[in-house]
Amino acid sequence: MTIQPKFAGYAEPALHAQGLYIDGKWQPGSGIPVIDPSTGQVLAEVADATIEDAQRAVEAAHRAAPQWRATAPRKRSEILRKWFELMSQHAEELAILISLENGKALPDARGEVAYAAEFFRWYAEEATRIGGEYRDTPSGAHKILVEHEPIGIAVLITPWNFPTAMATRKIGPALAAGCTVILKPASETPLSAFAMARLGEMAGVPPGVLNVLTTRNPGPVVNAMLADPRVRKLSFTGSTAVGRMLLGEAAKSVVSCSMELGGNAPFLVFDDADLSAALDGAMVAKMRNAGEACTAANRFYVQAGIHDAFVEGLTGRMAALKIGAGYDAGTQCGPMITQKAVQKIDQLVVDALEGGARATTGGAPLAEEGFFYPPTVLENVPRNAAIAREEIFGPVAPVYKFDTEEEAIQLANDTEYGLAAYVYTRDITRAMRVGRGLETGMLGINRGLMSDPAAPFGGVKQSGLGREGGVTGILEFMEAKYYAVEF
Ligand code: NAD
Repeated sequence: MTIQPKFAGYAEPALHAQGLYIDGKWQPGSGIPVIDPSTGQVLAEVADATIEDAQRAVEAAHRAAPQWRATAPRKRSEILRKWFELMSQHAEELAILISLENGKALPDARGEVAYAAEFFRWYAEEATRIGGEYRDTPSGAHKILVEHEPIGIAVLITPWNFPTAMATRKIGPALAAGCTVILKPASETPLSAFAMARLGEMAGVPPGVLNVLTTRNPGPVVNAMLADPRVRKLSFTGSTAVGRMLLGEAAKSVVSCSMELGGNAPFLVFDDADLSAALDGAMVAKMRNAGEACTAANRFYVQAGIHDAFVEGLTGRMAALKIGAGYDAGTQCGPMITQKAVQKIDQLVVDALEGGARATTGGAPLAEEGFFYPPTVLENVPRNAAIAREEIFGPVAPVYKFDTEEEAIQLANDTEYGLAAYVYTRDITRAMRVGRGLETGMLGINRGLMSDPAAPFGGVKQSGLGREGGVTGILEFMEAKYYAVEF
């Protein structure tokens, strides 16, 4: 491991890994520098997989498949449960690692590890509850019997913003279902994925059941795997643009796809909302991971009667946040993932300011080592500004004023995305009515956080296809087989 000496103590050596993990073996390599966004310095270097490496990973997953699908659900469950326990035991090292390579503040990183580990616990439980169906045909001629079988080899692609949780949210249900997998983590944050794979090894995941590849050339490497007829599933989390491209690739081999894509979450605050609760929720919905979350509140729509008090309260809370290296004590807002991300946020803010918006706090990048953008609140933002259409993916809260419920729903739906939304009102009837009008996969009612392993996570419109987590998440990795039975 070429990790810098000053970070060498972050974790047990057992969790350090930088090579490809194929067929239960670690293959050393280099070629992809991992940058610490808090300093801009190189943290480590990891292996750069070729198309041949990817083909070997598919081969390994194929060889391991018959035995894994024949492994008793109870046994699969016990391995996942052990993995959950190991992640919980190593939670602090895993959190520091996430913070080092992703930049998020340690409390957010700890939250991610707990959330990530829960997917293994949840799917350890679900592994033993895979059901089927039995019914009479309406004609009475025969019986209908339906079994669920593992779909086959699954390619899992994850983003950098939740480097551990996005991986366990896929690996948990896939392994519980009886599938073997190849994980391709984002090249910005591979160390967390490798550390998690190490723990999987310790938990007893057999060789070939989990393979992990990092690459600088995701297009050709992933396309080669999708073109292999033995690969039957693609589960992708990332941007809508890349998701669309991958759907096109998957179509060539008719590979089943689950897509968790971008978001543009509206956060609606009605006049009758509990202001302090709405502000608490706004801070969580906006500032978890410094705004680098697909569910992050991207547009705050606030009713005229409460608007000014909301802007004032939000400004005070955002201005008070401590900015710093993710892993430094007391940091509440860490750096963005790259300098490019800072530039994109800056462009959106400058465009809004030029259109007539006013920054009540923040509003320009920080001239410091590392990739920092300060918590920012914008008011009087033009409704048609680019910041209202695009994912900000940073600590910027644009606030827009509205008058009526119908207007709020129409504004909230005026986007190609439909992942998450938030509503604050004391009137639960109104909350449910608004919820039915919103084009969204998930809605937080008087809550700024909705993610839960036991709930179906996913979006509508350009935010994706399928759901992860919950009781249905495992079905994304299974095929229904129907038996027509006469007896
Ligand atoms: P990204 O689309 O750039 O990358 C995601 C993954 O795809 C990475 O592993 C990347 O290496 C890989 N990739 C890139 N090009 C590829 C190609 N041509 N072929 C195959 N793989 C390729 O996204 P990102 O910047 O890493 O993550 C941020 C995005 O992810 C945001 O849009 C965010 O909303 C979304 N996201 C969605 C969810 C969700 O659950 N809906 C969760 C987290 C993040």
